[in-house]
Amino acid sequence: MRHSIATVCLSGTLEEKLRAAAGVGFDGVEVFENDLVASPLRPREIRALAEDLGLTIDLYQPFRDFEGVDDATLAANLRRAEAKFSLMVELGADTVLVCSNATASAIDDDARAAAQLRLLAEAAEGYGVRVAYEALAWGTRVSTYRRSWELVRRADHPSLGLCLDSFHILSRGDDPAGIRDIPGEKLFFLQLADAPRLSMDVLQWSRHHRCFPGQGGFDLAGFTGHVLAAGYTGPLSLEVFNDVFRAADPGRTAADARRSLTVLEDGLARRDAPPRGRPSVTLTRLPEPQTPRGFGFVEVAAAGETAAGIRSLLAALGFAHTRDHRSKPVQLWEHGPARVLLNAADPRLGHTWDGAASVTALGLVLDSPERSAARAERLCAPVLARRHDPSETPLRAVAAPDGTAVFLCPSGDGGEEPWLSDFSAPAVADVHPGGGPALTGIDHVGLHQPFAHFDEASLFYTALLGLSPGESTELASPEGLIRSRALAGADGGPRIALNVSLIGDGPRAGTAGGVQHIALACEDIIAVAEAAVAAGLRTLPVPDNYYDDLAARTDLPPHRREHMRRLNILHDREPDGGGEFLHFFTPLLDGHLFFEVVQRVEGYAGYGARNTPVRLAVHRTERAA
Ligand code: MG
Ligand code: MG
Repeated sequence: MRHSIATVCLSGTLEEKLRAAAGVGFDGVEVFENDLVASPLRPREIRALAEDLGLTIDLYQPFRDFEGVDDATLAANLRRAEAKFSLMVELGADTVLVCSNATASAIDDDARAAAQLRLLAEAAEGYGVRVAYEALAWGTRVSTYRRSWELVRRADHPSLGLCLDSFHILSRGDDPAGIRDIPGEKLFFLQLADAPRLSMDVLQWSRHHRCFPGQGGFDLAGFTGHVLAAGYTGPLSLEVFNDVFRAADPGRTAADARRSLTVLEDGLARRDAPPRGRPSVTLTRLPEPQTPRGFGFVEVAAAGETAAGIRSLLAALGFAHTRDHRSKPVQLWEHGPARVLLNAADPRLGHTWDGAASVTALGLVLDSPERSAARAERLCAPVLARRHDPSETPLRAVAAPDGTAVFLCPSGDGGEEPWLSDFSAPAVADVHPGGGPALTGIDHVGLHQPFAHFDEASLFYTALLGLSPGESTELASPEGLIRSRALAGADGGPRIALNVSLIGDGPRAGTAGGVQHIALACEDIIAVAEAAVAAGLRTLPVPDNYYDDLAARTDLPPHRREHMRRLNILHDREPDGGGEFLHFFTPLLDGHLFFEVVQRVEGYAGYGARNTPVRLAVHRTERAA
């Protein structure tokens, strides 16, 4: 299918927007009237630029408050329309979006509105223009697609059809299945937008909170499936009003937008179309999504004393320093299946890591890294060029929107994972033997996201790795609200928790300013904590008030609570006697990184979010000290 984007989705001047859309391979654009009015380029010049860039102008929008008016207003509106039609001829746009009248004076008379739309279509026909009529969710008289279709049907003119906008339909909770009953040739245009499920005025919701398909709470695949089943053959076009996108880099937003349509189309291609509702367009599939088996490794970069602190911490948790990279200052630390790579840049050796300690790479174990790499390429994921000597394993890696390197690691088919051969036994003096109660792997990784790219990162990781996003939760911290969203596979695979500061300002606005963490899994957290403390680990102190509250809200036996209090272990339980979660944290290293040890009991699926504010407050206190 063809992919288009409304210029209103992107920041910058009209010229910048067109270049951004073309740069990521969009086929066409909707030109937003205000963008044209503010442009120094004349319509013919815009047309020429679009042609040079390989873009078609699929829609000119919007034309407002035309129908359901008195006769004097109608005459003025037709005059206004003819001016726009002749502009469109210059622009090379053949379809105009007309949205339903949203003024208080709109007349509630279907016969009048339909007759007026017919007059508009007759005028448009003379210019070779088609009118796509859209029901705004807040239209005064026409606010549903059923009623807009009723008017178009009554007007009965070949130059008049419908524009369907997913936001206007799904935000109202309307059932989109009825779209299947509309003849495909009357569906002139399809605008797609997702949105988080919010309880607010629909106009404000639309103007500020729309997002790209897959980033919100609507079922865009289901919706688009109905439109295609009706026989729609036009482009999939994005119309997203979003405060963040309006201010973000247009090239980056365009790539995010394009990725969302690619993923949507792939999802549609994978659905079993009912026999009578087979789309009359060709849907393009991506290489199969593939959920990794788990984390092969997580890489942490740190310099100087922080690196030493991480080594002591890992040693206290029973990790062994087993190998060193053959050509880089990278140590492999292992405890059972949990592997941490410590990239301990040493300035004396000319290594230049001067950032705060942070998670720099995720190694994900895949049955077919080639397939995931091919999928990543189609998802506009930047491929990372690796500097390595010819003897090293050629691992594929792509950059996530937050800058994290995602390594696609072959599984080794039960034998040793191939990338391990890039590491050799460490110098004997450095070896830490490890041991103690078992860790069972890396449970999850928590990555702080720059404010402007939270949804982009969420879509990227889920689309690339076949993960599903959980509900967004908002947590109060002493430094403001934090939004958190966990991404996880349907059965197993890696878990990634994305966090973002909701104000998007101050020290935590960027990736570098945020806190990241690595959560290690175990099956006996008391034993792990006791051994770690005995080996010199300081667990993050949890206030006694927390345990008083725990006593009030749970029936944990007092001796167990006391045991947890001594070890600073926190607790959560799913409602209705579901699974149980026990976890403890380390202090912050370098102000930016901490470790967590977790024990999931009876299939607990969360992340202990109820305890996060406590952890944030203690980290804050320690940072200030
Ligand atoms: Mg619209
Ligand atoms: Mg966690």
